Amino acid sequence: MKKIAVLTSGGDAPGMNAAVRSVVRYALSQGVEVLGIHRGYHGLLHGEIEVLNRRSVSDIIDRGGTFLKTARCLEFKHEEVRAQAYEILKEKGVEGLVVVGGDGSFMGAYLLSKFGISTVGIPGTIDNDLPYTDYTIGFDTALNTILDSVRKLRDTSSSHERVSIVEVMGRNCGDLALYSALAGGAEAVIVPEYPFNREELCQRILDSKKNNKLHSLVILAEGAGSAEELTKYIQEKIGLDTRATVLGHIQRGGIPTARDRVMASLMGKKAVDILLKNGVCAKVVGIKDNLVFDMDIEEALKIEKNFDKDLYDLVNKLV
Ligand code: ADP
Repeated sequence: MKKIAVLTSGGDAPGMNAAVRSVVRYALSQGVEVLGIHRGYHGLLHGEIEVLNRRSVSDIIDRGGTFLKTARCLEFKHEEVRAQAYEILKEKGVEGLVVVGGDGSFMGAYLLSKFGISTVGIPGTIDNDLPYTDYTIGFDTALNTILDSVRKLRDTSSSHERVSIVEVMGRNCGDLALYSALAGGAEAVIVPEYPFNREELCQRILDSKKNNKLHSLVILAEGAGSAEELTKYIQEKIGLDTRATVLGHIQRGGIPTARDRVMASLMGKKAVDILLKNGVCAKVVGIKDNLVFDMDIEEALKIEKNFDKDLYDLVNKLV
C-alpha cells in the first residue's frame, strides 16, 4: 500500500489530533503517502483533500478539537453516495482509509469498505460509548474537565451548604457520570443504564446533612434525566437549597491529557500497521486490558455494552 487517507468524523474529542499525527508520521516512516480529508465524509464527497507531511501535523499533539475538522454527512447513508466517495478515493490512488470517530463513523467506514477499499476505525468519542473497547480517545480529558468543574463547585456549594446537581454528557452511556462520581466523591450518580429512586436520593442527602456534610454532590448523565427538573424536585421535597449545573460543550474541549495522547498515538500506529499488513479489510482498533488490539468493524458494532455494576455500587459505598 503506497497511499492512505485519514479523516475525523462525528463528534469531536480531545486527542483526535494526536491520533491523526500518529497516523501521518508513522505512515510516512513506512514510506506511505498520506492524504488528509477535511470535514469527515462531507469533505471526502466534496474533494476537501490535501497531502499531509510531517510539518502538517506539527504542534497539534497538545491541542483539543480536530485540525481536520469534523462534520455530519447524512447522505453517506446512501449507497450511491458512498460509491461516489469510493470513486474519489480511487481516482486519488488511495488504497486505505483511517476514520477517527464513533459508531456512526465506523458504520460508514464498514459500508465503504464493501466497494473494495480497506478501512480502519480509531475510537474517538468523549462518552466512552463503544462497547468493543475499554477506552475511547477523549474520555480521559473530558473526565478531568468534569472533575475540575466539580472541584470549583465544591468551594461555592460548601460555603452556601448547598446541594449541587451536575449534568454531564452521556446519552446512552453513563461512564463519564460514573467515573466522575467516583473520582469526585459524589453522594450519588444517576446513569441511563440503571434505574434510580429519587426518594432514596433525598433521604441520602438528608442523612449526609445530619452527618455534618457541608454540601452534597449528585452527578447526572444527560441520558438519565434533566438537572433542572431534579433540582426542582429535591428543593420541593426536602427544602434544601439545590442548584443545577449543566456542563455542556465545555466537556468536549481542552488540552488532551497524557493518557489520551498516548492511547491516540498507539492506536494511530496500529491502524497503519493493519492497513499495511492486511488485504482489503474493515477493522477497528481498540484497547483491552491496556493493550492495543483490532477486530472486524462488523463484529465490533454488534457487541453490547456491559454495565459496570460493581463500579456503580462502589460509588454508593464510598459516600
Ligand atoms: P459518531 O461517529 O460520533 O457516532 P455520527 O453517528 O453522527 O457520529 O456519525 C458520523 C457520520 O458517519 C455521519 O454523519 C455519517 O456521515 C456517517 N454514518 C453514520 N451512520 C451511518 C450509516 N448507518 N451508514 C453510513 N454512514 C453513516
